[in-house]
Amino acid sequence: MRVLLTGGSGFIAAHVLDVLLECGHSVVTTVRSSEKGQSILKNHPDVPKDKLDFVIVEDIAKPGAFDTAIVSDPPFETVIHTASPFHFNVTDPQKELLDPAVIGTTGILKSIKQHAPTVKRVVITSSFASIIDSSKGNRPGYEYSEKDWDPVTQEEAVQNPVLGYRASKTFAEKASWEFLENEKPNFTIATMCPPLVLGPIVHYLQNLDNLNTSNQRIAAIMTGKAKEAIPPTGTFIWVDVRDLALAHVKAAELPEAANKRFFVTAGYFSNEEIADIIRDKYPELKDKVPAKGTKGGEYPSEGIFKYNNSRTKEVLGIEFRSLEDSIVDTVKSLQAVGA
Ligand code: NDP
Repeated sequence: MRVLLTGGSGFIAAHVLDVLLECGHSVVTTVRSSEKGQSILKNHPDVPKDKLDFVIVEDIAKPGAFDTAIVSDPPFETVIHTASPFHFNVTDPQKELLDPAVIGTTGILKSIKQHAPTVKRVVITSSFASIIDSSKGNRPGYEYSEKDWDPVTQEEAVQNPVLGYRASKTFAEKASWEFLENEKPNFTIATMCPPLVLGPIVHYLQNLDNLNTSNQRIAAIMTGKAKEAIPPTGTFIWVDVRDLALAHVKAAELPEAANKRFFVTAGYFSNEEIADIIRDKYPELKDKVPAKGTKGGEYPSEGIFKYNNSRTKEVLGIEFRSLEDSIVDTVKSLQAVGA
């Protein structure tokens, strides 16, 4: 199939791109600059231009941002929309997080409806942020699944960057289901709801200075920044980026994924466990990794919510990697860029 993949320079999208190519699909990816696009092409020297190309979309929050990118010869059958800001370094949550997420998502759906009638499936990278009700804390005994929605409000969304990010994912995903309901387009959608995504970086796109948000805790633990106190874990569930990338591609390919939400998680983790794995598997880092018994990063004593990932396993056929494999490969990839 021919796929438009948005945000091809991102941590997750770089892996989605590689899975799409491995599966024989033809990909055009959107990037914000020609430099980033050229870097992607240069690092896939054996892939011909009709299988991999890029198009520039500088700002997904601009009205009509995708109107040109969505038109292709041969035409697209599939769109995978990953581009959305994921960082907390913002002063204006509305402008810097909510607008690109919500206008980016509704914008691409409108562009497809108007200009790309051949598109039959749109896969959207949402988040566990759109599922979890963080006001309820660790919620021991409660099982989260695709039926749950984060009740965050617009008023809360503009209070700080963390709530702003959570709301950006919730409102963008809600807007995509509303679009489907109200506009009755010619395509079906599938939304992917991963929690914290860990896994190897794609070296030509990332380095320690621009490291994606979700891998920053691993870099901190392996480089000595968490030596005295391990930071709090936060979410306690995770998925490896390679499994998530495969889930995106399966959600694009499989008829049975149509109009479904997928809670894509491998299971529990804590920052303390990450430190244990790095200490055990990389003895040469022992002076930097927090010593066994260092405070912080543990599971909450009252327990933690349950999760239901059965739909992802049954419909998409995903078998999840272990935390140990993921951390070992991530550390290796970070060492390759100087960590
Ligand atoms: P990255 O920051 O690595 O990727 C984000 C991508 O979106 C980049 O390509 C970025 O381009 C692009 N982007 C951001 N804002 C704009 C904009 N205004 N206009 C055009 N492009 C833009 O993050 P991830 O790969 O981790 O995240 C990808 C998706 O996955 C996001 O939707 C995120 O919310 C979601 N997600 C991530 C999780 C994680 O733990 N990593 C967990 C759950 C969901 P550029 O780099 O050029 O700025």
